[in-house]
Amino acid sequence: MSFNQPVFLKESEEKNSKFVEIQQSQTTSVVSEDPLQNLCLASQEVLQKAQQSGRSKCLKCGGSRMFYCYTCYVPVENVPTEQIPVVKLPLKIDIIKHPNETDGKSTAIHAKLLAPEFVDIYTYPCIPEYEEKDHEVALVFPGPKSVSVKDISSHLQKRIQNTVRGKNDDSDKPSFKLKKTEGQEGCDLNDSKWKSTTLKKVIFIDSTWNQTNKIFTDERLQGLLQVELKSRKTCFWRHQKGKPDTFLSTIEAIYYFLVDYHTDVLKEKYIGQYDNLLFFYSFMYQLIKNAKCSGDKETRKLIH
Ligand SMILES: [Zn+2]
Repeated sequence: MSFNQPVFLKESEEKNSKFVEIQQSQTTSVVSEDPLQNLCLASQEVLQKAQQSGRSKCLKCGGSRMFYCYTCYVPVENVPTEQIPVVKLPLKIDIIKHPNETDGKSTAIHAKLLAPEFVDIYTYPCIPEYEEKDHEVALVFPGPKSVSVKDISSHLQKRIQNTVRGKNDDSDKPSFKLKKTEGQEGCDLNDSKWKSTTLKKVIFIDSTWNQTNKIFTDERLQGLLQVELKSRKTCFWRHQKGKPDTFLSTIEAIYYFLVDYHTDVLKEKYIGQYDNLLFFYSFMYQLIKNAKCSGDKETRKLIH
């Protein structure tokens, strides 16, 4: 049978994808296209080779891992760093992960591996103070108070104005000073530190839904602008039971946030600048998909 395998795999894959489509078509909207298909990605040859040779050593802790070490946030020995793309981001990203979250399952690490200069991962409850930065930091979290990505700038501007107003109120200046001519009104607004309404940092919570709520309700995150993503369908292979398929994995959420931010806030044309954030994700997604088709439990175990 082995000589026939590639053909068998291909046929089986086609059948399986049709089957999945049929299953999904219970609702009217059918996503027949694989959203990860048309990405601008660096060559994944290094991952293919690594996958064939199996786990290798983490050069930092010596642990045996597949592709990367999820505790040291570095690629393993047989995935040389220079063969991994580097992604430049328009802002910094903080990822807060729950201590109980299994590191090996988290896709947040992909962001740290691919954009190391821009991404920091914190384990809850050890998180930074954002109190003084709430005019330039936002938290991606869905909820009744959340705003869409395109409205980020106007909401940050409002916060700045409120802060300035609040400062003037608190000051000992006589109240008439606040009623000066337009150009001077709230003169603190002319201060360069208040001029920019660009988001400098965005926070993502990396954990299962139940644990996320605990982090979200932490008072240190309460005052921050909350941003909600447009509904996107997840490709996440560990799709969480009982959750809608718009529940994104962390790396998907980061990626889609950046695409929206690029077009809706920076007003620039999106030509795949952040696609490589899905360098590992798209490869692993494909592996899982193929493994499911061929019934290859070993591969599935390796990735899960
Ligand atoms: Zn390690």
